[in-house]
Amino acid sequence: MIVGIDLGTTNSLIAVWDSTEVKVIPNALGRLLTPSVVSVDDKGAILVGEPALNRMVTHPELTVANFKRLMGTDTLFKLGSHSFRAEELSALILKRLKEDAENFLGFPITEAVISVPAYFSDAQRKATKLAGKLAGLKVERLINEPTAAGIAHGLQEKMDETNYLIFDLGGGTFDVSILTIFSGIIEVRASCGDNLLGGVDFTNILKNSFVNYIKANYNLEQSFSLSAFQNKLYEQAELAKYNLSIHSETVMKLTWNSEVMAFHCSNQDFEKAAEALLQRLREPIKKVLNDAGLSPSQIEQIVLVGGASRMAIVKKMVSRMFGRLCLLHLDPDTVIVQGVAIQAGLKARDKALDEIVITDVCPFSLGVAVYNDTIPGQAGILHFDPIIERNTVIPTSRARIYYPSQENQEKVEIKIYQGENFSLEKNIFLGSLTINLPKNLPDKSIEVRFTYDINGLLEVESTIIATQAKARTVIEGNPGILSENQIAERLASLKQLKIHPREKTENLLVLSHAERLYEDLTGDKRNYLGMLIKDFIKTLDSQDPQLILRARMQVEKVLDHLQTELN
Ligand code: AMP
Repeated sequence: MIVGIDLGTTNSLIAVWDSTEVKVIPNALGRLLTPSVVSVDDKGAILVGEPALNRMVTHPELTVANFKRLMGTDTLFKLGSHSFRAEELSALILKRLKEDAENFLGFPITEAVISVPAYFSDAQRKATKLAGKLAGLKVERLINEPTAAGIAHGLQEKMDETNYLIFDLGGGTFDVSILTIFSGIIEVRASCGDNLLGGVDFTNILKNSFVNYIKANYNLEQSFSLSAFQNKLYEQAELAKYNLSIHSETVMKLTWNSEVMAFHCSNQDFEKAAEALLQRLREPIKKVLNDAGLSPSQIEQIVLVGGASRMAIVKKMVSRMFGRLCLLHLDPDTVIVQGVAIQAGLKARDKALDEIVITDVCPFSLGVAVYNDTIPGQAGILHFDPIIERNTVIPTSRARIYYPSQENQEKVEIKIYQGENFSLEKNIFLGSLTINLPKNLPDKSIEVRFTYDINGLLEVESTIIATQAKARTVIEGNPGILSENQIAERLASLKQLKIHPREKTENLLVLSHAERLYEDLTGDKRNYLGMLIKDFIKTLDSQDPQLILRARMQVEKVLDHLQTELN
């Protein structure tokens, strides 16, 4: 069986297609959402998900979140004595999901379809596949998040011939896609986005407004340092953001030396402060409509996906652009994983999904750096030349012919870029390919072929036309992509990680049972259970297997007793 995984910036989910419907699988704590957070404790043991999230405020220096957008870069996250790349942190999340699903389903899981923001670059996609590999999963397919949401929406609504727009604003990325569904075919018409824009940026806007307010209104002593309050300020801003999704006004507070600094903020203030971000959201919407060749009035449904699309100022902006209220009736938390699980079912050739065909597009242009001396007044300028234009249906393979820029050139370096801009610096550099040209070739033309597969991974091949010699297709020089040796090393070091006992399913199950019972009980029994939970967590933190086993058995006994009494 192939599972579907939504590896989110903020939360991750795992689901399966079980021949008639999607089943989202609860984690060992019984919850569908597993926070994409990793932490280490003082003894160097790893915590993942909820227990890690709980340490965010108490041990921020030993906890990390929001690493998804740094996948495929050389950024290292230092956690105590460990340091991790973003794909390794993602691997820890994937491993947690895999183990939870295995416990739930009762059999091992080895294959997965994973969703990625449509706007993820080649390096970020490769990093996602690698994260799967590090977690012991064969990643059968990567699927674009808005496409996944589009599949789930399209199938659940049982629509006929409809154009719909998926507006997906997550924690760290923004994707917008237009899809058309007709007689079982779900076609992605166009996809655009911004992979450096998400809910986190809106939280930062609120945080900055609060900081500015404090600076302007309080005459604080020298000993007061705002930097010491970064986490507290961020927490208040995040809370305010949630409040502003349902209320028109909110208050952020910070206490220092028993002085309470309170900042009142309305949705109007928020809208004003976030105008630049809202403008950044409008641009891809205009572009996607343009690329799909549709006007706003031809879009029959607008589906908002991703936690950050719940913000009132975002909904207002989208409503204004389309002149109508937005549709939000799919559970925005699970819609992506539902589509991913359907894609996994399709991949496994499930009979019930026999009649569905899905087509996707490449959301950005891919091309090479070329000299062009034909532009008047701009002799010899190096610029971007697209080979695959954005929103081409995938898989696709396109080739173009190029010539060396100088007469006796013996080497040609093909520099590969992703983006839409004429200037190279404004596009993303993906890697390069060097070709040796034999001397005295009569015809020096070189064919450069780009093949972009359904996973959004790019292969580049060059052929010297005269000799038919082909150059290797590996994209080199991208700092974000690890070599096979480096991968083997990372795999070995991840295997050695000590996983915190609190992470073990048997302990998680006891804890979650205890927490559920705690909610049901009252009075002395509740207090007693509270003490027991505290003691058990302390014992888990001791990391002594013997002590833990004994404590767990004791807690289980008490839980059984209390449960029987309650029933
Ligand atoms: P996702 O990656 O789709 O889970 O989206 C997570 C982002 O959505 C984070 O930046 C959250 O702060 C934000 N978010 C989730 N729920 C809400 C809400 N009710 N109001 C505003 N933002 C939210």
